[in-house]
Amino acid sequence: MCGIVAYTGYREAYPVLLKGLKRLEYRGYDSAGIALLNNGLNVYKKKGKVTGELEVFVKDKNLSSTIGIGHTRWATHGEPNDVNAHPHYSFNENLAIIHNGIIENYSALKQDLINKGHVFRSETDSEVLIHFIEDIKENSNCSLEEAVRLALHQVVGAYAIVIMSKDHPDTLFAARKGSPLVIGVGKNEYFVASDATPIIEYTNDVVYLDDYEIAVITKNKLSIKTIEDVVTTPYIHTLELELEAIEKNGFEHFMLKEIFEQPKSVHDSMRGRINADGGRLVLGGLREYLNTLTNAKRVVILGCGTSWHAGLVAEYVFEEFARIPVEVEYASEFRYRNPIINEGDVVIAISQSGETADTLAAIELAKSKGAIIFGVCNAVGSSIPRATHAGAYTHAGPEIGVASTKAFTAQVTVLTMMAICVAKAKGTITETLYHELLVELETVPAKIQKILDKHNQIHYISEVFKDAHNFLFLGRGYNFPVALEGALKLKEISYIHAEGYPAAEMKHGPIALIDEEMPVVFIATKDSSYEKIVSNIQEVRARKGRVIAVVTEKDELIQRMAEFVIEVPHIHEALTPLLSVIPLQLLSYYIAVLRGCNVDQPATWRNLSLSSSPRWGTLIGSERIKNKLKSLNRR
Ligand code: GLU
Repeated sequence: MCGIVAYTGYREAYPVLLKGLKRLEYRGYDSAGIALLNNGLNVYKKKGKVTGELEVFVKDKNLSSTIGIGHTRWATHGEPNDVNAHPHYSFNENLAIIHNGIIENYSALKQDLINKGHVFRSETDSEVLIHFIEDIKENSNCSLEEAVRLALHQVVGAYAIVIMSKDHPDTLFAARKGSPLVIGVGKNEYFVASDATPIIEYTNDVVYLDDYEIAVITKNKLSIKTIEDVVTTPYIHTLELELEAIEKNGFEHFMLKEIFEQPKSVHDSMRGRINADGGRLVLGGLREYLNTLTNAKRVVILGCGTSWHAGLVAEYVFEEFARIPVEVEYASEFRYRNPIINEGDVVIAISQSGETADTLAAIELAKSKGAIIFGVCNAVGSSIPRATHAGAYTHAGPEIGVASTKAFTAQVTVLTMMAICVAKAKGTITETLYHELLVELETVPAKIQKILDKHNQIHYISEVFKDAHNFLFLGRGYNFPVALEGALKLKEISYIHAEGYPAAEMKHGPIALIDEEMPVVFIATKDSSYEKIVSNIQEVRARKGRVIAVVTEKDELIQRMAEFVIEVPHIHEALTPLLSVIPLQLLSYYIAVLRGCNVDQPATWRNLSLSSSPRWGTLIGSERIKNKLKSLNRR
């Protein structure tokens, strides 16, 4: 998921790797490392920053080499520390690998290798892969290229890998499936990277490796074969993108990039955990405490901002399927009260960064009262996973945009899987429903993609409403938390006042606000409260409010009533939030951009009123202030 850079050619590799890793820093990472060939295959790696920990660590080492690999890690398997950082050696230390992604079947492969006498240094899935490749090479007596091919045939998951070998001192072996890899083509030199940012200052000519392709690269030759051993002819693209555009993968902002990443990030949240065909749903991090969760008398969910909204969705899912009473609390309120935690209560704490101060304090308070705590976090090894008894990572990859998007859908996916696990263990859902939910979950990524494909339509609606002063977001049932999230996104990045409400509550007050100036976004998918929300739409229309409705495909009734509709595919009602939130993210994004707002770093810049004085203006650029803003924005 994070950064890869590799070089083979005539230059000193270390400066190329170091610069490249710095270029990749924008992706977020927790540790970094390099491997170089001189007097053997040498790996240097450190938890922490490239400039700082890694650079200091290698200062007195012999770094001379014209081939090398470098990596910035975003941990998925094993906490961020020096040992788990990449590169990883093979068992005999003849090979070194850098890997982005997740090897789903790593634990079965690892067990086989342990039985054969392999000893592992790290907890990562990546180390297993390089041991596996070496094992195949030695036992089948084949070439390294062949061993890579044979190994990748047996690997389930996603990977971008680059391998170096003591026995091939000028060759890099690279392969990908599901994680990007770009090869920069120079004169008597090649570069490999997870995106073109580390490459662009040396060459504009690049080859994008495709899924299931393996490249063998020496300083003057690039050959690519498919995993089926069929030779492919590399197609050289000439890049004309600016560095910044490459960082954002061609998108104008990180937020937009992350919205569009959701088919993949939701898939990654389920990767290796669900197999609908086999009726399998396993969340490894819950295993030890699954009984506690299953027997819980009450679940208290803690979160802030978007995470709190994900918790509200979880309340509906847990209560419906697992039949456990749930309370969702703002961590910032919980921590300052004297909350009641009884025996049998379980707490689930949700946070993207795993560092949210209020949530951490709330966890400590709940712990001191004897609660068992589960965490749902994105950043592996962050404080919340360390402070909790058990949990599940969301695996959405780093979220750079300050407004949370892909973290929300990943949280909802993981919390839903948790609820289904518990429901299955408790026997509160039928086999048929269990199976149906797994099948439906697997359809989510493709359905999100279908909504994203209609972004132009949402852009058009945004143009119509960009000058509105207020917005109302209304939903019922599973779509009520989505209404709250839609309103939060809009106010957070466009500075338009927006309220989210349960649609039925409108008549108890907010209805007074509705007139021809008021856009009202209804999240009105075909579900158990459909008829009721249709009546709510009528009430708004009667007061001349302007209705934008998120509806299920082929809904004709609301189509006739609303000024604009945005269709989302049909899905099991409990999974609706994963789809219905997508148009709302896009709507807020486009409105904010059309209003000229800074979407990737919103509100804090305004609230701190830094921009009026030139002195503060300079300070805005300083690292200290930036970090401060970042930590204020963490959720
Ligand atoms: N799964 C690997 C690990 O945890 C790779 C993580 C990454 O993509 O940075 O080490």
